[in-house]
Amino acid sequence: MTDATAPITREQCEEADRNDPLAGLRARFALPEGIVYLDGNSLGALPRDAVARAADVVSREWGADLIGSWNKNHWFALPLRIGEKIGRLIGGGAGECVATDTTSVNVFKAVSAAIRLQQQDAPARRVIVSERENFPTDLYIVEGLMALIDRGYSLRLIDAPEDLDAALDEDVAVVLLTQVNYRTGHLWDMREATDRIHAAGALAVWDLCHSVGAVPVAVADAGADFAVGCTYKYLNGGPGSPAFFWVAERHLDRVETPLTGWWGHDRPFAMTDAYAPAPGGRRFLVGTQPILSMATMEVGLDMHLEVDQEALRRKSLALTTLFIRLVETRLSRHPLTLITPREEAQRGSHVSFRHPEGYAVMKALIANGVIGDYREPEVLRFGVTPMYLGHTDVWDAVETLRRVLDEELWRAPEFQERDAVT
Ligand SMILES: *Cc1c(COP(=O)(O)O)cnc(C)c1O
Repeated sequence: MTDATAPITREQCEEADRNDPLAGLRARFALPEGIVYLDGNSLGALPRDAVARAADVVSREWGADLIGSWNKNHWFALPLRIGEKIGRLIGGGAGECVATDTTSVNVFKAVSAAIRLQQQDAPARRVIVSERENFPTDLYIVEGLMALIDRGYSLRLIDAPEDLDAALDEDVAVVLLTQVNYRTGHLWDMREATDRIHAAGALAVWDLCHSVGAVPVAVADAGADFAVGCTYKYLNGGPGSPAFFWVAERHLDRVETPLTGWWGHDRPFAMTDAYAPAPGGRRFLVGTQPILSMATMEVGLDMHLEVDQEALRRKSLALTTLFIRLVETRLSRHPLTLITPREEAQRGSHVSFRHPEGYAVMKALIANGVIGDYREPEVLRFGVTPMYLGHTDVWDAVETLRRVLDEELWRAPEFQERDAVT
């Protein structure tokens, strides 16, 4: 598939799948027959081994070993042990990363901690910069934090990635960016953006929710200050599996958490009167961890640690490029507008198109076995997870989309009504 103008056939896609060195990974996921799952960027698929792990942690560790499991089955160390693994995956060092809480809560902790560092180093800086197009929870959390600290802090939102430089001045304390945009799939060059943020005297907090597990991440190499992200998307951790929190080594000796719970205490079981922070990233734990979902999440994470992230990235780009080409060559008479960057270096692992009837089109598509999702406004979003999808899946998905549009299947009344989760 090198000639960008020649039409692509299903046979070529099958051939590409036969030559795909990562094709064997799919059998390790419990995907139902007869569907194409293009929503692994919202909820990753179930790794088969996670079923046995979940059963074991429930029946044996909880059921039989009961409270002894905190020591015997190492529950207490779980957020650190898994945090180390995530740290390795995102290019961080030992003791800098913990698995814990949700991304929303971790954004709160990271931005607060970054503000506190700046209060010591550059107290006049009181602006937080982020993107208007950021995932809403990141902005909601920062707004809540601003209201809480109430000392003249404000949020400055940029409308497009090119506006970052103009927003960086001597008032900016912290910049909160999401490496891959959840709607458009735009990918920041983390190192280059972090350099600009640092040159302006601000600290960089990165949200990796839509990049970890699909795009190679190197937080330390990029010079990031903090990073957070979730594990239930491309890492296949399971619904609501714990998120992660990473802080750069250079901040470890003085960084403070705003949520001083007992799990972040130096000696939680000493039950002392005064709070004393644990060393390293452990201080960013708050309370008792969700052991069942954390244990289950480790299975998907371990698979990612086995796989070469560069190979995964190459496959992801091959599939998203194929998706775009097929839509643009085979569905060109329909009003689909690509909102994902064409430039591969600026693209994450999903592709999005606007369509005026986007919501009904997506519902009709799902009813026909192709599971993507819909995001306001009018956006059809297709997550292309290189772990378990192939070229033929992309072909079949685009063909189903063509049928939904050609035959106007989306016009059926049952596709017009909105569900609570889209
Ligand atoms: C998915 C996602 C979240 C989700 O946050 P939760 O607290 O896990 O619900 C946050 N930020 C971004 C950028 C996301 O893509």
